[in-house]
Amino acid sequence: MSITAISGRTRVCGVIGDPIAHTMSPLMHNAAFSELGIDYIYLPFRVAREEIGGAIAGVRSLNLAGLNVTIPHKISVMPFLDEIDPLAREIGAVNTVVNDKGVLRGYNTDASGFLQAMLDKGVRPENKKVVVLGAGGAARAICYILAENGASLSILNRALEIEWARNLAAEISGAFDIDTVALELNSDNLAKVIPGSDILVNATSVGMSPNTRGTPVPAELLESVPAVFDIVYNPVQTRLRSEAEQAGALTISGLDMLVCQGGLSFEKWTGQRAPLEIMKKEALKGLESEK
Ligand code: NAP
Repeated sequence: MSITAISGRTRVCGVIGDPIAHTMSPLMHNAAFSELGIDYIYLPFRVAREEIGGAIAGVRSLNLAGLNVTIPHKISVMPFLDEIDPLAREIGAVNTVVNDKGVLRGYNTDASGFLQAMLDKGVRPENKKVVVLGAGGAARAICYILAENGASLSILNRALEIEWARNLAAEISGAFDIDTVALELNSDNLAKVIPGSDILVNATSVGMSPNTRGTPVPAELLESVPAVFDIVYNPVQTRLRSEAEQAGALTISGLDMLVCQGGLSFEKWTGQRAPLEIMKKEALKGLESEK
């Protein structure tokens, strides 16, 4: 919406995080509000780690319509909310808050956005063998939604933090009746688990700008994987995706996940279907202008 169209009735949404300067969310959501001609605006709020309680009190007292929540608040925001969706509770992280007439509800649309981006490309998780690289915040959400949808998982994380992967695998095996293993992320283990797998997911930050020459998997191992999902969205075309495409795999981009998670948040705040193509175009423009 144009600034001159803001009125006393305009509903305010936003994103809280620290840092926040590089977020693509205001571009995506403001373009979507404008496309649908609805009276909403979306703003970035830099909120320091120790200010999370005050920020959520502010959502109540200023009657904001909703929020996205990003690093470092996805876990620490939870005790300040009134209700947490069961999937977000299992994952242990919230990235979307909806203010429903004063009741603040937390959701995790990173997980459902990841699943939607996969399904949109015709890749279904049921009974698939999935290799997930990484065991950080995004990997947790992804492992839960994959397990909930019937995939079996091999979770690989670098040696330094192998315990994170083991704990995640143990939690998931306990919560769902599926096979889950945790391994150290190294070339021997990659060579063991990638052949015979159906889907490879990069949920590490390897390949992310400015280290765009990085890739978590040697190109020769990509020849046997039918589908590769790289959740890194900056750059949109990562080295991993380029090499996977050269090897004949179908690939899914982190940008698709970003747009799907944003679209699902948008639908929770507005009750309207999100214009995903417009949101994707704006996010792409924003990423291009950062180069
Ligand atoms: P995080 O919690 O900090 O986790 C980062 C993960 O990457 C950890 O598993 C970490 O391993 C691993 N890692 C980092 N550097 C590595 C290296 N050199 N070699 C091997 N592994 C390495 O971050 P996150 O929130 O999960 O985000 C991870 C990536 O996903 C980022 O690029 C982020 O931008 C992207 N992301 C995309 C979306 C989307 O919508 N497309 C959403 C969320 C996140 P250790 O545990 O050993 O440190």
